[in-house]
Amino acid sequence: MLLMDCHTHTKISPDSDAELSAMCRKAQELDLQAYAVTDHIELCRYYPQGYYQTEPRNEEDFFDYASRWEQSMHQNQLAKSLLNDKINFISGIELGEPNADFGLAESLYRDKRLDFVIASLHELPDKLDFYFLDYQQEDTDVLLEEYFSILLEISRKDCFDVLGHVTYPLRYIAGDAGIAINISKYREMLAECFKSVIANHKGIELNTSGYRQKYGKPFPDADLLKLYRDLGGTILTLGSDAHKPEDLGGGIAQGTELAKSCGFDKVCYFLRHEPYFINL
Ligand SMILES: [Zn+2]
Ligand SMILES: [Zn+2]
Repeated sequence: MLLMDCHTHTKISPDSDAELSAMCRKAQELDLQAYAVTDHIELCRYYPQGYYQTEPRNEEDFFDYASRWEQSMHQNQLAKSLLNDKINFISGIELGEPNADFGLAESLYRDKRLDFVIASLHELPDKLDFYFLDYQQEDTDVLLEEYFSILLEISRKDCFDVLGHVTYPLRYIAGDAGIAINISKYREMLAECFKSVIANHKGIELNTSGYRQKYGKPFPDADLLKLYRDLGGTILTLGSDAHKPEDLGGGIAQGTELAKSCGFDKVCYFLRHEPYFINL
């Protein structure tokens, strides 16, 4: 039995083809104790394209996440009926770029159909997603400085339950582009961010997708996870960030061991924005 997978996608996310039924079947095979579907809702492109009076920047620039929101809430309600009652199903969302409109983010957070919100930062204002950037042309220090300062701003708002993959840019900068990053330069900024999360009774996730990617480590890695714990952080969810059934539960067992070794004696999942703890 796996404890949980609290970060997963279906084809409602533009970067996934996964059918909900196939994901639910896999969740049952894995005997997950808790399973969240958290499709992408990007707030920087929440409204239809006409609202922004702009052209898509590339073929993966999608608008009108407002309609995906409704699809997602509807699908999350369906998911429950596809699962046996041993699995705690969590109606979630991955809220990207809440900094684009904090007022909207806070009101979406209060949608009664939701149990759980992961706040994520995938791109900086006026930049493409970190996935698309050419790191030979970018100043990675400038990017990371801005990334962590926006993350700090997000950590102070009441629009999420956990911060998602807090070291996301490293997936591409350190992993795919192979550029060495001295993360200790940003340790103070991350410590501020963790303190704010803790003071606001929120948490972070251990995103295990990095284990199956070139980066080879989760987001965040052991050092930062320990920092969060040492600062008093106890709210920690585990998520694979699976975009297909084969990846569901990926790295969760390894992440559970890592959490234990970093001083966590429990992890949690969320229902109605309340943490439910599971002892390790
Ligand atoms: Zn993400
Ligand atoms: Zn995700």
